[in-house]
Amino acid sequence: MYLKRIELLGFKSFADRTVLEFGPGITAVVGPNGSGKSNITDAVRWVLGEQSAKTLRGSKMEDVIFAGSSARRPKHYAEVSLTLDNQSGALPLEYAEVTVTRRVYRTGESEYAICGQPCRLKDIAELFYDTGVGKEAYALIGQGRVEEIIAAKPEERRAMFEEAAGIVKTKARKREAQRK
Ligand code: ATP
Ligand code: MG
Repeated sequence: MYLKRIELLGFKSFADRTVLEFGPGITAVVGPNGSGKSNITDAVRWVLGEQSAKTLRGSKMEDVIFAGSSARRPKHYAEVSLTLDNQSGALPLEYAEVTVTRRVYRTGESEYAICGQPCRLKDIAELFYDTGVGKEAYALIGQGRVEEIIAAKPEERRAMFEEAAGIVKTKARKREAQRK
């Protein structure tokens, strides 16, 4: 599984529809300071369900919506789609390509979709369980995160190993069954 494409619309500095295509292997994003490199990783994190505006380097969720410039009006909503190559079948769906979308309005209301079908945030989290992808997973290592992993408490580090070992889904189901 790998990230094939990101489509941004009104997300942070990406006012216009912007499509970034990635191939298998390593991709480096380069550009001057403030040109939007980190905004791309924020977009990935956001689609995967990040709910903390601070983690996305803002103060409120509305801050992910293009705020306007001297030449451009602000946008009413932000939308990002991630397309993952699923030929390996890592994601439990019958598609060779899986697109996950999130949209947020200035009211703060978020909408999610998997392959164009509206869904809940929970469905997105479940889709990525045990794949190493997800807002908390190790597929995204932000600045400072390496130190954080080293300094993590044993329980926190254990959670990381559980995700890597692929048993998070089973544990979540067990918790849910025990609650019922
Ligand atoms: P550096 O090399 O310094 O890390 P970078 O390429 O990672 O830079 P980003 O942090 O991704 O840059 O982009 C910051 C830019 O995004 C700033 O110019 C900021 O004004 C712009 N930006 C952030 N949020 C919004 C928004 N909601 N609307 C418009 N522009 C925004
Ligand atoms: Mg940056």
